[in-house]
This record gives sequence, C-alpha cells and structure tokens, in this order.
Amino acid sequence: MRIPLVDLSAQYQTIRDEVLPAIERVLEGMHLYLGPEQTAFEREFAQYCESRFGIGVANGTDALTVALRACGIGTGDDVITVSHTFIATAEAIALVGARPIFVDIDPATYTMDWRQLEAALTPRTRAIIPVHLYGHPADMAPILDFARAHQLRVIEDASQAHGALYNGQRVGGLGDIGCFSLYYSKNLGAYGEAGICVTDDERLADAMYALRDHGSRVRYHHDVLGANSRLDEIQAAILRIKLRHLDEWNEMRRAHAQHYATLLAKSGLVLPASSAWAAPVYHLFVVQVPERERLRAALEQAGIASGIHYPIPVHLQPACAYLGYARGSLPRTEMVAERVLSLPMYAELTSDAIDVVADQVTAALDVAAMSR
Ligand SMILES: *Cc1c(COP(=O)(O)O)cnc(C)c1O
Repeated sequence: MRIPLVDLSAQYQTIRDEVLPAIERVLEGMHLYLGPEQTAFEREFAQYCESRFGIGVANGTDALTVALRACGIGTGDDVITVSHTFIATAEAIALVGARPIFVDIDPATYTMDWRQLEAALTPRTRAIIPVHLYGHPADMAPILDFARAHQLRVIEDASQAHGALYNGQRVGGLGDIGCFSLYYSKNLGAYGEAGICVTDDERLADAMYALRDHGSRVRYHHDVLGANSRLDEIQAAILRIKLRHLDEWNEMRRAHAQHYATLLAKSGLVLPASSAWAAPVYHLFVVQVPERERLRAALEQAGIASGIHYPIPVHLQPACAYLGYARGSLPRTEMVAERVLSLPMYAELTSDAIDVVADQVTAALDVAAMSR
C-alpha cells in the first residue's frame, strides 16, 4: 500500500458531482471579473469565521500583503512574527517594505510565544502576525492584550487553520484581520491559487477591496496603487462547495489525529499537543523525532510519504540573511526544525492506512533503538 502525504484525488471523487456543474455554471454565465461566485464566497466564508467582511484575493501571500497595506504598514515599520512558518509570512512583511522581527515559539504548540513579545518591541513596531501553524491556534488572548497595550495591529496568518477554534471562536476572526491561503492542499483549498482576508472593521475592508483591484473602487478610477489580486470566479465556485464540507472534513482529520495518538502513545515520539484553549484542525500531523532522517527513509521504503514543515527556519534562510539573525538566536525554533516530521494527514485517509503508518513508525523506531 502506498500512502501519500495528502491525496487530493480521493477528495475530488467525493465532490465531483457538485464541482463540475458549478464550473459549468460559471462558464455559462461568463461573468469572470469580480462576479457573483466571488461575492457569495466572500459572504459565506466571512460568516463561517464569524466576521463581517470577506475580501477574496489571488493567494495567501497576497492576503497578507493586502492586509498589511490596509493597515498602512510599509517602509520603516517593524512587524513581529515567527520564524517557524512558511516563508510567505515573512515575505509578505518584506514585500510591503517593512522589517520582520522574529520571536521564538512555544515548542508544545509550535506557535508564537507571547512571552517573547516585550523584548521584540521597537519604537517602529506596528503589528504582530501570529501563525496558527499545523492547524493549532496560537494563544491569542495574551497576544491581543499586548497589542492593545502598545497600539499594534494583529493580523492572523490562519492559512493552515480554516475552522480551528480558539476558546470557542473561529481563528481569523480574532485579530484586526485574518488571512487565509486557499492553496490547493490547505484544509480549504481551491483547484488553483486563491486566498481571502476577513475583518469586522469596515474601513479596513473597504481599503482591502480597493487594494486587491488596482486600488480601484470605481472602474478606471484609482485612489491608490494596489495589486492585481482578485479571487478567480471558477475557484470561488469550487470553494463555495468545499466550504460546505469543511467542518465534516476537519472532524475526520481530528478523528485521524486521535487514532494516530492512540497508536503512537508509547512510541516515544513527541505528538501534537492540543491546548486547553484550542480545537485544532490538523492541517498537518507533526511529530518530533531525534533521528528523523532514519525514520523518513524507513517509511519511504515501506511506501509511506512524510514531509518536513519546515527544514530551515525563515530567519536562517539565505533570503533573510540581510535581517542579521545568527544561528542560535531562536533556539526553540531551530531545535524543532531539526526534529519535526509530518505523517500522512487528510480527511479521506483510512483507518487501515493509519494502522500501517503507525506500525511502520513503531517498527522503525524499535530497529533504531536496538542498533544503538
Ligand atoms: C500556505 C501558506 C501561506 C501562503 O499562501 P499561498 O496561497 O501559497 O500564497 C502563508 N502562510 C502560511 C502559514 C501558509 O501555510
């Protein structure tokens, strides 16, 4: 049995009969520019996040840049975020001309350690971007308190946490703006590129609606220079269908995580934590293992795919050398980067497949222990 890290075909087969007519509907209507599907998806997704406004954009990276720009953040400003994330979080900050300031993570949840914020503050700090990594919410209450005390914006990078709850509230709707990638392998993913921002603030929403469409509110009238970053109409139609299944898919992921946790309880691996405040959605199922490459190779031999999210922390990437972070500057981030391993996780994963993965993981760890 070959077990992939994600299987998008398996999901497509379950919704094919809904997806194909929706695509056809868009093509028959031929309203491809800021059309009815986009508007409907923006409304439905905002509602899902318990937010007032949804602003569709072309991808998750643009969601972050459009959000930062709507907050007036640019050259000369500092934005605090984490280094243990996908590069796009920091890239967006740099793209608007601001400087990313990295803080270390809480190694249990892999998310921003709010205790580090005070030391990271500079006179130029304007915003904080926590990342709800792997589907687990960051501890938002102290982050929001800190931001309020220092008049900072909070932009959530919720690209891996569609539907996750923080103290019963949907992530994305907790800060000033929530940003979501709708990249195809995310918990809610298009069949191409897409992203969305949500907010309760009408002025921020208005700014983002303009920014994503060349700074225009009325066609060919441009108040500011914006971007070409609209949500594609066909993708919006597909996303509307997928949104109706999201809760059910997230429930399936939770059940898989539970199953893995039961089978791997005695393995010695560090398993994903679920904090008291969190209802995570397991975008990825990430364990920590000291001899990662050995385990990866053994799984590969057995036909089981695994991933590393992410092998090099953002602050140590060559692209970020100009920021001047030395190795050792974020010890917990650097430690987990050497140990994290993502096991197969997607809603359609079968119980049998999880049994096979857990067996192979256990066997590989036993061999490693014996050869020591
Ligand atoms: C996927 C992702 C992004 C970027 O989204 P794109 O749609 O690929 O531009 C940003 N942040 C995080 C945490 C992500 O996982």
